[in-house]
Amino acid sequence: MDLTGKTALVTGASRGIGRATALTLASAGASVVVNYNSNENAAEEVKKQIENHGSSALVVRADVADYSQCEHLVKSAIDHFKRIDILVNNAGITRDNLLARMKEEEWQAVIDTNLNGVYNCCRAVLRPLLKQKSGGRIINVASVAGIHGNSGQANYSAAKGGVIAFSRSLAKELGSRNITVNAVAPGFIETEMTGVLSDEMKEQVLSRIALGRLGKPEEVADVILFLASSADYVTGQVIAVDGSLSM
Ligand code: NAP
Repeated sequence: MDLTGKTALVTGASRGIGRATALTLASAGASVVVNYNSNENAAEEVKKQIENHGSSALVVRADVADYSQCEHLVKSAIDHFKRIDILVNNAGITRDNLLARMKEEEWQAVIDTNLNGVYNCCRAVLRPLLKQKSGGRIINVASVAGIHGNSGQANYSAAKGGVIAFSRSLAKELGSRNITVNAVAPGFIETEMTGVLSDEMKEQVLSRIALGRLGKPEEVADVILFLASSADYVTGQVIAVDGSLSM
């Protein structure tokens, strides 16, 4: 899986699944744009690790919920690396609450980041991608919650379900330009996002996972690498990375 000469933009690459994805794509030879929102030190650390392994990286702050910041993010990538081949829309947040208690801000923040953020980055990257005329790969990080729903996550599930439908539509729109669009749907992955789960909740989740453990960020990154480098004839698909949780 050789990505030498390719440039990948990974949103939310300072931590968790995004960080693992940035490192994995870089180890396959890609130059990587490491996007973050608030955690500059963590993003710079990812850049350092990529450079230590002999690839190039650029750190760019941008809130994916804001279209003009996404335009700036893509422009910075093109200015620096002269091209962009792979977009991984990974940035995401949770604001869990039962609907009866869910504040409008909790609904809106999750929709703005997790769903509108995907629209913003895809829209911003489209013109340069089409202009290059060399195809491209878009991989959106959804969630099993976007397929099956989850109590206390109506906002998150709605956003991730939207990401899945968006990915399928865009795959149909961009297929003739040799741009594939796929989604990965992680189950429970060991990151700061799931670090807040109580031990009791973790036990409940584990009882529903055939592999008997939570996933690792690198295990999601490996599937993203496959979609970004091989998988030439795969588009409009949703690949669960969940140890069986969604079966
Ligand atoms: P995480 O450890 O909390 O990391 C989230 C990343 O997103 C950070 O790099 C953060 O940047 C960035 N981010 C958040 N809001 C942003 C914004 N507005 N603009 C740009 N970047 C932003 O989360 P994770 O567990 O790795 O999750 C990554 C993706 O996988 C998310 O889309 C999540 O919904 C999805 N997912 C995760 C799991 C899981 O079990 N962990 C399961 C299913 C799906 P800063 O560091 O700068 O804040």
